[in-house]
Amino acid sequence: MSARIDEILAAARRHAEEVVAPDVAAWNEAGTWPREASDAAARAGLLGLYAPAEWGGQGLPLAEGIRVYEELGRADGAYAFALSMHNICTYAVCGFGTDAFREKWARDLTSGRKLANFSLTEPQSGSDAANMKTRAVINGDGTWTINGRKAWVSLAGEADVYLTVVKTSDAPGHRDMAMIAIPKDTPGLSFGPRYETPSYNFLPLAEMHLDNVTVPEENIILPVGKGLSGALMAIDIARVSIASGCCGLMQSALDIALAYTSRRRMFGGVCLDLEGIQWMLGEVATELEASRLLYRAAAEALGTERGPVMAAHAKRFVPDAALKAATICTQALGGSGLLAPWQLDRLSRLAQMLRIVDGTTEICRVVIGRDLRRRAQEVPEVPVPKGYGEA
Ligand SMILES: Cc1cc2nc3c(=O)[nH]c(=O)nc-3n(C[C@H](O)[C@H](O)[C@H](O)COP(=O)(O)OP(=O)(O)OC[C@H]3O[C@@H](n4cnc5c(N)ncnc54)[C@H](O)[C@@H]3O)c2cc1C
Repeated sequence: MSARIDEILAAARRHAEEVVAPDVAAWNEAGTWPREASDAAARAGLLGLYAPAEWGGQGLPLAEGIRVYEELGRADGAYAFALSMHNICTYAVCGFGTDAFREKWARDLTSGRKLANFSLTEPQSGSDAANMKTRAVINGDGTWTINGRKAWVSLAGEADVYLTVVKTSDAPGHRDMAMIAIPKDTPGLSFGPRYETPSYNFLPLAEMHLDNVTVPEENIILPVGKGLSGALMAIDIARVSIASGCCGLMQSALDIALAYTSRRRMFGGVCLDLEGIQWMLGEVATELEASRLLYRAAAEALGTERGPVMAAHAKRFVPDAALKAATICTQALGGSGLLAPWQLDRLSRLAQMLRIVDGTTEICRVVIGRDLRRRAQEVPEVPVPKGYGEA
């Protein structure tokens, strides 16, 4: 662990406690992205986590930087998610962008003057990403003209640039896909009406419409043929980031439950004296410890051959555990658990959202299943005793 990570984690915790937690209800009420909060996150060093120092970033290894979302997730999982997507896009721009694009954008992204997001999903293609339709035509002068419709774009209209996955031919499949950066002010780019999401209403989510949007070739982040595979690498980082944020959410739910049950008087003692309640909260505590170990192991595996399956294990297990934690903690508070000031209802909705975004629980099971089938080829045959049929 680098010395820098301790400072960054402390800054993230302060940011969560002082900037996010006190105001998140007001942000939801207002339904607007708290730009002053993301500016403060940038000043705290949280917006260029993996970008090299020469571009103004923190230069942290993925396995360290990802822990920031555990701190932010204690205050709000949707806010942690949005910053994680910005950090992944910034990492992609610094690592894969052209020199000209990096020169123009990298320092603005690491400093938070500009925000970035990632745009893959379309109305007809979420899990089945290869079924996307957004199409770029490569013009004679090297510029790209893009037409299509993206869906579920986070920070829609708020981010200054969108790393967008496009097709470059009419051929089915993903071999012709690329990723290109589209600045918000490009003519032809517009956004549909905002989706209504009461529990994280401050995060603008909407469709993104591309109507003859033309951008220069210097905006290419991943060339033709690398669009989907590169996007999936980004999604692996996002999956582990979400698992990290979910650990913060679980910690928050458990702390609320402990604060309440240790004071709620009943049967001549307090609620937490009841063995049944200790067992319920004990299960949350065990799954939180297991979740932390899992997402940190997955973060270490990123960039290796085991990266995708470890990210899938983390994204499959931890958001499920977070939803279960929020449900158990709500139950432990009785009726109070349903009331807004205790936050548990909001945490449940956030955990459910985190089970879906960046690869649903089911898609992660598909990745794990494929890995098991591959590994099955390598395990030695088990001889079937005579009379027990054939394997
Ligand atoms: C809050 C939020 C923010 C988002 N932000 C972004 C963003 O910034 N950029 C972006 O590109 N996308 C974003 N998304 C989109 C998100 O990644 C998709 O919602 C997700 O990939 C699922 O796609 P879908 O909603 O189209 O569901 P579908 O793909 O239609 O899935 C429907 C159901 O079928 C299940 N399913 C699918 N395949 C299988 C299978 N093989 N076996 C079993 N079950 C299966 C799914 O798990 C799900 O339960 C966001 C989503 C949310 C909720």
